[in-house]
Amino acid sequence: MTEQARTRVAIIGGGPGGYAAAFMANDLGLDVTLIDVEKNPGGVCLYRGCIPSKAFLHVARILTEAREAAYWGIAFDEPKVDLNRLRESKDEVVKRMTGGLGQLCKSRKIKYIQGRASFEDSRTLSIIHDDGATERLETDYTILATGSRPTPLSELFLESPRMMDSTAALQMEDIPRNLLVVGGGYIGLELGTVYAAMGSKVTIVEKESTLLPGADPDLVEVLHKRLEPFVERILLNTSVASIKEARGGLAVTLEGKEAENKPAQFDRVLVCIGRRPNSSGVGLKNTRVSLTDGGLVEVDAQRRTKDPYIYAIGDLTGEPMLAHKASHEGRVAAESIAGQRTAFEPNAIPAVVFTDPEVAWCGLMEKEAEAKGIEVKVARFPWAASGRAATLNRPEGLTKLITDPDTEQILGVGIAGTGAGELISEGVLAVEMGATAYDVGFTIHPHPTLGETIMETADLIFGHAAHVHQSRPEPREAAGKE
Ligand code: NAD
Repeated sequence: MTEQARTRVAIIGGGPGGYAAAFMANDLGLDVTLIDVEKNPGGVCLYRGCIPSKAFLHVARILTEAREAAYWGIAFDEPKVDLNRLRESKDEVVKRMTGGLGQLCKSRKIKYIQGRASFEDSRTLSIIHDDGATERLETDYTILATGSRPTPLSELFLESPRMMDSTAALQMEDIPRNLLVVGGGYIGLELGTVYAAMGSKVTIVEKESTLLPGADPDLVEVLHKRLEPFVERILLNTSVASIKEARGGLAVTLEGKEAENKPAQFDRVLVCIGRRPNSSGVGLKNTRVSLTDGGLVEVDAQRRTKDPYIYAIGDLTGEPMLAHKASHEGRVAAESIAGQRTAFEPNAIPAVVFTDPEVAWCGLMEKEAEAKGIEVKVARFPWAASGRAATLNRPEGLTKLITDPDTEQILGVGIAGTGAGELISEGVLAVEMGATAYDVGFTIHPHPTLGETIMETADLIFGHAAHVHQSRPEPREAAGKE
């Protein structure tokens, strides 16, 4: 041990949960030490997740739009992809963002320690640096924000450089001719979209009966229909029985409803079947923190664990494992440590799958309402009726609102369509503010925009959207019924 120091709040993990907590605690006047193994904060989101994958999805979008420009009479030659430059650009984006966070720590005078921390006891951390040196840090409180890692490839999957998890897929060593994606969730569909746009023949296998099993089927259908011609195959109710090295590739035998009996050959296999919390290896046994069977940290509404000196936020505390949920929890934990009355109790946490088209939703969705027996009124606005969607030649989208049938309060919003990830914020605000369909329908939205679809869906709750005709009884017929 070379040194011993004290801090009011230590934060282990510099991802969007950890750094948001650090910045908030600092803004509230607390002395903060942020600890992460990387040179700068950023976490999986910036180094190996959201940011690099969105950079690649941006490129995928350019490639797809160039191909689809033929609709407007514009033709380009087949694109040439310089993989080295592509990787460099992606790395530059990551470096710029993580470097910026490092700067923000400095300007806020937050102490940033590069190292691996673990608990010696509830209020003492041991931090091992890259060079093996160890320091001890006494803390009043610690916020644990160590995130998650890809579910490991089970024993079924052999060790092979042709096998990839999301981290390896983002290295983009090559563009495989044939790529098998195991798991039709967020990562499988986003990275499958990237590789398909780059020219890989992508096969997606999903063990459930639908892609994105958690989302409403009508939203998923919009994506599924558009994906079908882009990818080689989408096999539902299907999983992997075995994978063997074969000459120049991997021989994969699939099992399930849509599987063929004989093995199929792939250059690479990308496995994305969920993520596991990083709750081991941080010395939690030396604290009073308790874990669920799945290794999630149990927390209360303030994100306090069973140990009064330790808070936990982000993927560690369970689904949804989303960066923005972690950031919000981080702010709540910091406020709680600063003695404020606070709680993590959002009405809506937006989910966005950044495919093409994007699928986004928030609040109570139809599937969940059905499962819980909650009566709702649902309105759907097809983008075929949107002028803006027509000008983009993207009429396949759908906007839906889930409302309380008695009060017309908006309980949930779902959007599948180009730009849905940007549009959903209006829905989140509506749900959080307790807006009614009348509030949203009577709010003037700019024309022509895709945002108008939210206004028109709200109008549909009352049966009078301008661009969708809903048949209603003829006046005489209606009068006769009175
Ligand atoms: P996921 O839970 O989204 O999807 C995993 C999918 O794999 C599920 O549909 C599941 O049914 C399927 N599956 C599981 N075992 C299988 C098997 N043996 N064969 C075939 N299919 C199988 O998980 P993910 O895609 O790995 O992503 C992990 C987490 O990362 C997500 O929960 C999400 O919270 C987060 N994430 C978010 C974003 C975003 O916000 N846009 C992007 C990427 C990741």
